[in-house]
Amino acid sequence: AWLQGHLDTLIRDIPDFPEPGVVFKDITPLLADHDGFSAVIETLARSGRDADGAVIVDKVVGMEARGFILAAPVALALGAGFIPVRKAGKLPGPTHAVEYDLEYGSATLELHRDSIREGERVLIVDDVLATGGTVAATAKLIEQCGGRVAGVAVLMELSFLPGRAAVGDLPFRAVKTV
Ligand code: IMP
Repeated sequence: AWLQGHLDTLIRDIPDFPEPGVVFKDITPLLADHDGFSAVIETLARSGRDADGAVIVDKVVGMEARGFILAAPVALALGAGFIPVRKAGKLPGPTHAVEYDLEYGSATLELHRDSIREGERVLIVDDVLATGGTVAATAKLIEQCGGRVAGVAVLMELSFLPGRAAVGDLPFRAVKTV
């Protein structure tokens, strides 16, 4: 309850960003608030534990760029490795790549082929679940490495968009749903 009330003041709506008609959820005030940021990381990290608190993931994947900010501390909290998913052309080693549709056009995400080993259990962490395209593409990349997606944890779910359908049957957590 404390966290939910706090989040309302620490995540602000920016109208017409990055383009007219879009209301952008800005999490930078939350990141600047130590108590709020720590509580969010602890909540997201629950998706990497079972009911007894035992860690059930080997790796935590975060997507460029705001996903990095949340996924890296979640990985440390779980004693797991952090793996970046990046936009095309940014990772230096051999990669898997997945192209996915955006509202206008398409985008490509990449993952280092050797970053996840066969059979490893992987938690996906991002800031916002909107259409779900980013999460679906990331899940495909993890599977191309032979990894198993153990769950998806996001700070915010935009429930007026169909992101949950893209998550499918995977365990899912949103710290906040708007
Ligand atoms: P999706 O692929 O449509 O689900 O969009 C999710 C991706 O877009 C995430 O990686 C977010 O970082 C970004 N995103 C979409 N909407 C917002 C927003 O309102 N605030 C911050 N990031 C957003």
